[in-house]
Amino acid sequence: MFVAKMKNGSFFSLLDWKKREDIERLTKGESFYCPACDSRLQIKQGQVRRIHFAHTNNSCKASTESESPYHLEGKVKLYETLLQNNQPILEHYIPTTNQRADIYMETDYGRYAFEFQCSSLSAADFNRRTKLYEKEGIRPIWIIGREKLGPQDRTVSPLKLSPFQWRFLQRPAPHSSPYITSFCPHRSIFSYIQPTFSLNSSTTYITMKTSKNWIEQPVFKKEQSTLWKDHYLHYKKKWRYEYSFYKPYQKLRSYCYGKMHFPLSLFPPEIGLPVPSFYHIHTSIIEWQAWLYFDSIYHAPASSMILLPSVLKNFRFRLKSSDIVKRDLPLIKVGSYENAIVEYLDALVAIGVLRRETPTIYRKLHDSGRLPSLDEALRRDRFVLETFLRTKQ
Ligand SMILES: [Zn+2]
Repeated sequence: MFVAKMKNGSFFSLLDWKKREDIERLTKGESFYCPACDSRLQIKQGQVRRIHFAHTNNSCKASTESESPYHLEGKVKLYETLLQNNQPILEHYIPTTNQRADIYMETDYGRYAFEFQCSSLSAADFNRRTKLYEKEGIRPIWIIGREKLGPQDRTVSPLKLSPFQWRFLQRPAPHSSPYITSFCPHRSIFSYIQPTFSLNSSTTYITMKTSKNWIEQPVFKKEQSTLWKDHYLHYKKKWRYEYSFYKPYQKLRSYCYGKMHFPLSLFPPEIGLPVPSFYHIHTSIIEWQAWLYFDSIYHAPASSMILLPSVLKNFRFRLKSSDIVKRDLPLIKVGSYENAIVEYLDALVAIGVLRRETPTIYRKLHDSGRLPSLDEALRRDRFVLETFLRTKQ
């Protein structure tokens, strides 16, 4: 911490003084207290860490992490960056929620609490702190330390995002893209990361935008790159040749063989299509779409109707039995996993498997075919993807 309360009730910020002698002179004989819990603070100064206040015990409810040099540095640089255009307050204590925002700011557009996060925070704490701010009408701006996101030059190759990192994904309004905000204290640069396509929980393609200033709603260039295309086809091939035999897919495998009477390696090529709202679902794209396809589409005869409410009902059953897992995204204020389902049905419309009759009724155009061989499956995978991408142009 950099801000403490003095005996007379006024606040003292270590950042107001540049010279160490000034700080030593001003703090000599003075006692400092935590603005949140009123317990005694001590001044700490080291070789690596900036001079800062620390609790003498660890019982403070408002402080959640012991402050690493990276966190302290990030907080200062973030504060200095925001100071250029706004009037931020460092370590602002909010008594009604008993929270201390790293930086608090009010603008014409609203009230903001910036949280610069470098250590893993539990999902429960993340969600609790988010809700407390929101209840006060304050928008929490969760910013992840850039070093927590892996190498800096990862603009093209896919990222492996952990559940902790995914939680930073925000989409405050319908017209905004979903993105993660990160900040690098060494370069004082914000990076905005938009996930564009995930194969599975360890492979997510992104587009990135960097800026010297904080942008509340960054605008990303429409993604033209199809770099993921070859990787995607390779991944589908791996699925057919290897993954479909793996233990975690045993339930799906037996379901496929028992109900559809073909091995999972020969799953229909229209399973695993990219959809914009993919990020709501943690389960890999092939797996969740396979469950959906097998449950709601495969057995329907040609010209029969596919009703959206029953597709959703079947999907919810898979969520309930944990065959499909949703993501916990507390900062996504628009849309849900149901959007991904509708988008998948619309993708099936685009490649000619279904026809859309009304917003909730689809018609199946042909009986489900069966793939004769793995070679044919790979050929069809490419054909389906190319057909699909053509419809997107
Ligand atoms: Zn305290």
